Amino acid sequence: MSLKGKTAIVTGSNSGIGLGVARELARAGADVVLNSFTDRDEDHALAAEIGKEFGVNARYIKADMSKGDECRALVEQAGRCDILVNNAGIQHVAAIDEFPTEKWDAIIAINLSSAFHTTAAALPMMRKAGWGRVVNIASAHGLTASPYKSAYVAAKHGVVGLTKVTALETAEEPITCNAICPGYVLTPLVEAQIPDTMKKYDMDRETVIREVLLERQPSKGFATVEQLGGTAVFLCSDAAEQITGTTISVDGGWTAL
Ligand code: NAD
Repeated sequence: MSLKGKTAIVTGSNSGIGLGVARELARAGADVVLNSFTDRDEDHALAAEIGKEFGVNARYIKADMSKGDECRALVEQAGRCDILVNNAGIQHVAAIDEFPTEKWDAIIAINLSSAFHTTAAALPMMRKAGWGRVVNIASAHGLTASPYKSAYVAAKHGVVGLTKVTALETAEEPITCNAICPGYVLTPLVEAQIPDTMKKYDMDRETVIREVLLERQPSKGFATVEQLGGTAVFLCSDAAEQITGTTISVDGGWTAL
């Protein structure tokens, strides 16, 4: 399948799932815009590497997804957006009565509100181009809950809701919007949860991975960023033209439990 001639913006794509998705979209021929809030030389170098490896136009644009105006400016600056992947996300783990308000606000802004702003800026471009795909990276936590992740679970349920509304508002147009709901994928975001969880349950790393992180993932294996990228490419394919307003779980059976 070829996405040649399409431009994809992937938010939060200098590491983890976003980078994996950007690489798979580029492998399928799409020009890609990488994003993060860091603007380091390595970020630009990453885009250059992808461009060279897959023979596509790849750029890096800095934008802080916690700020609505920067989310919109990212899309405007890209100049074209056929494929929008809302991926940027952060996590914080604490009981509700101890959850820092600034962490709640940041998670809601980056994990949920950013997708509203980028989608609002991208839809007119998709309509003009006569084709568009919005792929929201939600989570198994967009469909189920875990204790101590109030902001994350609330934001990801919100992303699934926004996905449905976007799909309904574009239903008669050649635009689709879906959410991918990964279970556990071993990325820096998950890696960062391991030390705290080790402390919390007084467990070693391997036990935390098998008994806590993958406790609810019946396959007992992490999904890979390449598999997530492959799912995004599928949602951009002609085969997925009538798939809209829904979720695709890539969670080793988590939400079947
Ligand atoms: P990661 O920490 O590797 O990547 C997060 C990305 O978001 C990075 O590129 C980072 O630069 C970017 N980012 C963070 N704050 C930002 C901001 N203010 N502005 C712009 N960019 C910002 O994490 P990941 O695991 O790859 O997560 C990516 C997405 O996938 C998140 O939305 C996460 O909730 C979701 N997800 C991850 C898992 C998992 O197991 N890793 C499971 C389900 C869902």
